Amino acid sequence: MTSSTMKSPTDTCPVCIGDGQIEYEINKPQSFTRDIGYIDTKWDKCYACDGTGEVEIPRYLLTSTE
Ligand SMILES: [Zn+2]
Repeated sequence: MTSSTMKSPTDTCPVCIGDGQIEYEINKPQSFTRDIGYIDTKWDKCYACDGTGEVEIPRYLLTSTE
């Protein structure tokens, strides 16, 4: 019995370099309750790989065009 699972080839996510998380910059502008604007940062799931640290390699990159 052979169950051939066609696993799509993956590569390390170029955005988070495999971490699965990236630091987002949140712009906190000046407001009534804040004297000065500043940039806050928070770590969240990588938008490119959805937190997996790997991205699927597009098929067109695998097929060699000669
Ligand atoms: Zn990523």
